[in-house]
Amino acid sequence: MLAEIPTMAIDLVQIEDNSTVLADEFIAHRLGMLPLNAEGVENLFYSRDCDCDEYCDRCSVILSLHAKCTGDENMHVSARDLVPSGERISQTLGNPIISDPDGLGPLILKLRPGQEIKLKCIAKKGIAKEHAKWAPSAAIGFEYDPHNKLHHLDLWYEQDAKKEWPPSEYADWEEPPQEGEPFDYDAVPNRFYFNVETAGALPPDAIITEGIKVLQIKLAQMVKDLSEGDGDGNGAYDGPRSPEFGGGGADGWGGGQDPGFTTPYGNGGNQSAWGGAGAGGGTTPYGTTPYGGAGGSSW
Ligand SMILES: [Zn+2]
Repeated sequence: MLAEIPTMAIDLVQIEDNSTVLADEFIAHRLGMLPLNAEGVENLFYSRDCDCDEYCDRCSVILSLHAKCTGDENMHVSARDLVPSGERISQTLGNPIISDPDGLGPLILKLRPGQEIKLKCIAKKGIAKEHAKWAPSAAIGFEYDPHNKLHHLDLWYEQDAKKEWPPSEYADWEEPPQEGEPFDYDAVPNRFYFNVETAGALPPDAIITEGIKVLQIKLAQMVKDLSEGDGDGNGAYDGPRSPEFGGGGADGWGGGQDPGFTTPYGNGGNQSAWGGAGAGGGTTPYGTTPYGGAGGSSW
C-alpha cells in the first residue's frame, strides 16, 4: 500500500520561461510532489515499456502551466493552473488533485508583478519504490487486540491497568474480556485494523484493493517460478546465467579464464577444471547437476 501501487506523478519538466525567484530545479521538485488523479492508471504503459523515445499519449499525461503577473500584487500559482493537454486515456487521469474549499489545490509558487512562468510537465506512471512522489498513501497504521487481551497486563501497570492500557477506538468491534478471565497463552491476533490515509491520487478503498492486487501478482509469480522449477530441481539458478554458460566447449567464459594450465577444453571438453584436479575424470561434485553434465562448465 505504501511502495508498489502505481500512480501518476510529474516526472519531466520542460521550462520555457522562468523569471520567478525560484530556481528551475526547485519548481520542478515542487511539481513532482503534486498529487495527480490516478484512477485508470492501469490502462497506461510504464514509460520504460512503451515504444516511444521519451513520452507519448500511451505512457504519459502532459500538463502545461503559463502564468504572468500583470497586476500590482503578488500572484499565487497553484495546482489549478496546470492545464492537461493532448490525448488522454480518460478525462480525469493526471488531473491535479484539488480538495481545498477554495478549489485552488497546492500552491506551486508566487509571482511578483512582471514575473512569468511557462513550462510543460510530463506526468508518468510509477511506484513509490522508485520515488516517494508516486506513493498513493500518506500514512498507514494498523493495530490489533483493542482490549489488550493478548497483553499479559497482570504485572505491567503502575496503579490501574484499565487506566494505563485504555481500549482503543476499535474496542466496540470485539468482545470485551470477561471479569476474571484467565490469560490465554495460546491466543494469537487474527483481526487487524488498518488506518489508510490517502495522498489524494486514489481513494482509500482503492488503495486497499490495489495493494491486494500487487500482492496477488507477486504470489502468482512465486507459484509460477516454483512450479516451473519442478523437474530439473535447479530452476532458481536458470535465470541469472548467460545462455552460453556451461552449454558446451567453446564459450566466452572458457577463453577468458584460461590461466595456462590444462583447461577443460584442452582435452575434449568433457571435464571441468575442478574435476581434473580433484576427483579424477569427469566426475566433479557438480557432475550430477544439469550444468556439470554438459561437459563444458568452467566450474
Ligand atoms: Zn510512450
